[in-house]
Amino acid sequence: MQIKRIEIAGFKSFVDRATLDFGPGIAAVVGPNGCGKSNVVDAIRWALGEQSPRNLRGRAMEDVIFGGSESRKPVGMAEVSLVFVNEKGQGPATVRDYAEFMVTRRLFRNGDSEYLLNKTPCRLLDISELFMDTGIGARAYSIIEQGKVGQILNAKPEDRRFLIEEAAGVSKFKARKKTALRK
Ligand code: ATP
Ligand code: MG
Repeated sequence: MQIKRIEIAGFKSFVDRATLDFGPGIAAVVGPNGCGKSNVVDAIRWALGEQSPRNLRGRAMEDVIFGGSESRKPVGMAEVSLVFVNEKGQGPATVRDYAEFMVTRRLFRNGDSEYLLNKTPCRLLDISELFMDTGIGARAYSIIEQGKVGQILNAKPEDRRFLIEEAAGVSKFKARKKTALRK
């Protein structure tokens, strides 16, 4: 799985709809301080289901919605879509037949939120399952932010084990076992 495109609207500093295309190979996002580079990474993490505003550098989840600037009024909704290219036959049944699929997250100022898979409403669980064992999830190792390497090195063995299990492809089974035991 590889990220191909990000569409951002009403999320943090991205008030108007912005589309970022990522070709094969390495892409770099460059720009002056405060222009929104880290907000792009926050957008990816958020669309993958991040539930902690602190991990998105905010105090409340509402902080991800564009809050207005000198020239623009605040907006009522944040929306981020991520388009992934997928090798046919890979991933869970929901996306196995698609060469490309899109996940979307929306948040309204009244607190309502939505997750969509290929524009069809779904549960957060469906999104999480898509990326389990791929290393892509909101908390997985595909996003190495500032301070992360030090955090991994200094982590307790149990916490470091989480990353190893994700890489080894065990986390999906652990999650299913947990759900099964709860039933
Ligand atoms: P640096 O090079 O310093 O790391 P950066 O390009 O990573 O900068 P970001 O942290 O992505 O910059 O963007 C910060 C900008 O985003 C700030 O100007 C901040 O006001 C704006 N911003 C963050 N959240 C919102 C919001 N909810 N509404 C409007 N603007 C926001
Ligand atoms: Mg930054």
